[in-house]
Amino acid sequence: MVTSLNEDNESVTVEWIENGDTKGKEIDLESIFALNPDLAPGEESIPSPETPPLPSQTSVKVNKIPKNRRTIAPSKNDTPSRDNRVISVYPLRIVLSCFLTARRKSNCVKEVEKLQEKRERRRLQQQELREKRAQEVDVTIPNYEIMYMIRDFRASLDYRPLTTADLIEEHRICVCVRKRPLNKKELSLKDLDVITIPSKDVVMVHEPKQKVDLTRYLENQTFRFDYAFDDSTTNEMVYRFTARPLVETIFERGMATCFAYGQTGSGKTHTMGGDFSGKNQDCSKGIYALAARDVFLMLKKPNYKKLDLQVYATFFEIYSGKVFDLLNRKAKLRVLEDGKQQVQVVGLQEREVKCTEDVLKLIEVGNSCRTSGQTSANAHSSRSHAVFQIILRRKGKMHGKFSLIDLAGNERGADTSSADRQTRLEGAEINKSLLALKECIRALGRNKPHTPFRASKLTQVLRDSFIGENSRTCMIATISPGMASCENTLNTLRYANRVKELTVDPSAVEGRPNVHAVNQLDALEAQWGVGSSPQRDDLKLLCEQNEEEVSPQLFTFHEAVSQLVEMEEQVLEDHRAVFQESIRWLEDEKVLLEMTEEVDYDVESYATQLEQILDQKIEILTELRDKVKSFRSALQEEEQASKQINPKRSRAV
Ligand code: ADP
Ligand code: MG
Repeated sequence: MVTSLNEDNESVTVEWIENGDTKGKEIDLESIFALNPDLAPGEESIPSPETPPLPSQTSVKVNKIPKNRRTIAPSKNDTPSRDNRVISVYPLRIVLSCFLTARRKSNCVKEVEKLQEKRERRRLQQQELREKRAQEVDVTIPNYEIMYMIRDFRASLDYRPLTTADLIEEHRICVCVRKRPLNKKELSLKDLDVITIPSKDVVMVHEPKQKVDLTRYLENQTFRFDYAFDDSTTNEMVYRFTARPLVETIFERGMATCFAYGQTGSGKTHTMGGDFSGKNQDCSKGIYALAARDVFLMLKKPNYKKLDLQVYATFFEIYSGKVFDLLNRKAKLRVLEDGKQQVQVVGLQEREVKCTEDVLKLIEVGNSCRTSGQTSANAHSSRSHAVFQIILRRKGKMHGKFSLIDLAGNERGADTSSADRQTRLEGAEINKSLLALKECIRALGRNKPHTPFRASKLTQVLRDSFIGENSRTCMIATISPGMASCENTLNTLRYANRVKELTVDPSAVEGRPNVHAVNQLDALEAQWGVGSSPQRDDLKLLCEQNEEEVSPQLFTFHEAVSQLVEMEEQVLEDHRAVFQESIRWLEDEKVLLEMTEEVDYDVESYATQLEQILDQKIEILTELRDKVKSFRSALQEEEQASKQINPKRSRAV
């Protein structure tokens, strides 16, 4: 397609579309006429001295020609009668343009013109911007230099964002990124948007850097995912490409999981639960509800209708390795594994749902339960994973399960070196569970027989979704656009990238055990006199697979935390048993004392029985006291280990 005629060098600019990209070059008119003799003008069309002046632009746009033709009507010297005469007095370029204009019909041509127009507009805007900038450099913006660099960079890009016309691909593992808009607070602080999503699967981070001589520059990093959603994308659109394709999976007897992963405040809950505008959340726009809506639609399809499936929902939260039922006033639940490695959350409420409204009500109940007593919704949710499940059952038997998870804020994984134990333990659990999640998804992608699901409660609870031929998963990594979040954003993107980096040779990873860390583990085991457990084996595996993120010190810390958590459970269990036993002792002693009230009681028998009771008491209490002592040492050990962690290594996962 000819897009412009260049007076200066008697050439035309042509553009065409090749593999979806617009390409272009300049060709001189001579070659054009040689190739298209029918286009070549006759003798009479050579411009005459009376030719009316041309508009001042150096190039004449094809699509503007009809207008120009009118404005530069022939002068009085021309013979106006016949059309070809009129044309003939026009300069050669206009004859050609008119000819081409008449031919300009196809959509492709229009498309090219639109692009050309856009580019022209951008160029003009850019120019205006530069002029404006030359006059007044806006020094009120803290990073104005960087801002201009980013603007310049963006102006050089061609944007092709995702549209509804784009194909929805089938992925066993789908990893995508969603950028949210700058929020009010960021805007008021004049934070810069350092993220660009130029096309349907590319994310660019413009990281400001400084040279030794203090000049600033941008380091532009590019990541590719299955999909990239820019800040104008709606939840419905995100849903369309991520969770929606998984609804069918559960009807086909499969397991599906969809995770929202990212830093606190990056849009996980907005994506999964719906828009929180003001105090109220519009749950109907979240992926939980959209998925439920489609489950009920699918249920009506003749193929599935005949299966007579029932739909149930569960909603629970995992906080510091403990499970709480959000549909049952946050009751603390136990997770048990049977001999066949089947994991059960004991007592988890499964509510039957008949329509989308039922689901919306449950989500509201769960959400209010989740955040009750919290100063802000984010204060608590940043430290816990929320799991919402839609379960299909046929005659009571599991048919398929869709788990939708709003993960804890990934920056919390770095809290392992906090001065406060509670925060440290939370951080350790988050760090571990996000690493375990990554490994479990990677194992799913490689069809590996062993997934280190026992390394965390999250992966343990979701174990059945990481195995089996018919399991599919999707991760939506949410990112904040601000420069202030740049480091966290890069961490999020790197993590998401690792989740689907499926080309890595598995033996290359497994062949490099973290020797140093393993030795420390051995030392630890010797010290505590405990052998390996499946949990700790998985933890070991996890740390070996993530050497870069898990320093030997962090690994030792994780070990100490696992130890601590195990001991805490044991101490609590034993204490409960001792408490029960004490009640029995009291009753026995009461009987014994009553016996002594009688005139002729058997002194010998009394002494023997009392001694027996006391021996038992001493034995049991000593055992409990020793356990508590060990537990206290474990607490100290954990604190020591936490101080050894190099803060640089314990970044968010
Ligand atoms: P997270 O759950 O990751 O901590 P939220 O979902 O609570 O983050 O989002 C933080 C804030 O940003 C909320 O006020 C939310 O409404 C807003 N927000 C998040 N994503 C978007 C989006 N895509 N469009 C508009 N606002 C958003
Ligand atoms: Mg949230």
